[in-house]
Amino acid sequence: MQYQAVTPREAYLARLETGADWRAEIESLAKAEGIEAGWFNGMGAVEDAVIWFYDQTKKEYEAVEFDEPLEVAACVGNVSVLDGEVFAHTHAVLSRPDGETVAGHLDAATVFAGEVCLQAFEEPLVREFDETTELDLWL
Ligand code: ZN
Repeated sequence: MQYQAVTPREAYLARLETGADWRAEIESLAKAEGIEAGWFNGMGAVEDAVIWFYDQTKKEYEAVEFDEPLEVAACVGNVSVLDGEVFAHTHAVLSRPDGETVAGHLDAATVFAGEVCLQAFEEPLVREFDETTELDLWL
C-alpha cells in the first residue's frame, strides 16, 4: 500500500448541465478551479451511459452501452492528473424503473440532472502506468 496525507481545501457543490457529459462536467469544474486532486460523490439521472468493466485476465476494458434513462443512485470518484490532464475517475450505480441496477466504471453518460459534491485537496494526485495491473494508478 502507498498513502499520503492530504490537505483539504474548498469543497464545491455543482449542479450538472442537462445534455452535457457527466464525467466531462466534473473535469470542467476541476479545470476551472485548478483542482488536481479531489474526491467526489453525486446523484441524479442520466439519459444513457457507457460503463467499462476491466477484465483482469485480458487486462483490457470492455465497454457496455445503455441507451435508456437511468437514475444515478450513487456516484463516487476522484480527481487526479493523467498524462498532464485532469481526469475524473468515476464509478456509478445506475438504476432502472423497476429498481434493477447496473454499475461500474462510468466512462460517459448524458446528464439529465446531476448534483455533485467535490472535495478538493491541495496536493496534486498523479496517475502513472502500473506494470502489474496495466492500469493507470496513483503514484
Ligand atoms: Zn474505475
